[in-house]
Amino acid sequence: MTAIAVESVSVSYNGTNVLTDVSIDVAEGTWMGLVGPNGAGKSTLLKAIVGAVDYDGSIRVGDANAPDDRKAMALRLAYVPQRPVFPVGMSVFDFVLLGRTPHLGPLAAEGSQDIAIVWDSLATLGLTEFVNRDVASLSGGETQRASLARVLAQEPRVVVLDEATASLDVAAQHEVLELIARIQEERGVTVLSAIHDLTAAAQFCDELTLIDEGDVVATGVPEGVLTESTLGDVFEPTIRVIEVEGSLVVVSLRTEGNPQ
Ligand code: ADP
Ligand code: MG
Repeated sequence: MTAIAVESVSVSYNGTNVLTDVSIDVAEGTWMGLVGPNGAGKSTLLKAIVGAVDYDGSIRVGDANAPDDRKAMALRLAYVPQRPVFPVGMSVFDFVLLGRTPHLGPLAAEGSQDIAIVWDSLATLGLTEFVNRDVASLSGGETQRASLARVLAQEPRVVVLDEATASLDVAAQHEVLELIARIQEERGVTVLSAIHDLTAAAQFCDELTLIDEGDVVATGVPEGVLTESTLGDVFEPTIRVIEVEGSLVVVSLRTEGNPQ
């Protein structure tokens, strides 16, 4: 079954087209990675899917349309933007509790079940010792884990992540990606994430969509998308794709000053 169906979606900012006729299908329970150069339109596509920018075309998440069915979308879909806002003075616990907002009744008071879900989410992300810390004081990796704990507390069917591991060191990046994989596998959620690290994308995503200048250039399993000829056209001709212990590794070779 299709969890996210994007059909002929175009977005323009002040008359300039940044996405043109983009179509993608994300199958339920799979992890789709959006890859492509800076400025390709990855964040814009994610914003269209979560109903944060206007678009032409059609987007469905399950049977809800963005942005018409706001309530259904809020219950079903969790989104972590590229630059999340962490309110100064808010505890990690209260930040994760924000994930329960779409589930709360008209009086907006959380019940014991909401509190239990928050504790469970904090424990899953290894944040129990941070509950009373100011969320704005966390390190990069802890911040990403707090965002994921808030996502878990929301109990979504679909998770949309924009560069969830940007600016993390290689070990912290790997840890966060493993946590996302665990959420995908154990809870059966569908994940759509923009991810600029092609080697990490190859290892963690079931499928990739490569976007360049607002167009889909390639989509499918990582082995089909991450080829030297495709990446050479989109990024630079010095890209090499090698295999290490069964995984694809993407590197760009330095040629200048390197006699061949
Ligand atoms: P990516 O996430 O792939 O790096 P973005 O979707 O952020 O790319 O941006 C795609 C293009 O749209 C870029 O040229 C960017 O400058 C432009 N853009 C993004 N947001 C806005 C905006 N609010 N107003 C005008 N242009 C924008
Ligand atoms: Mg972006």
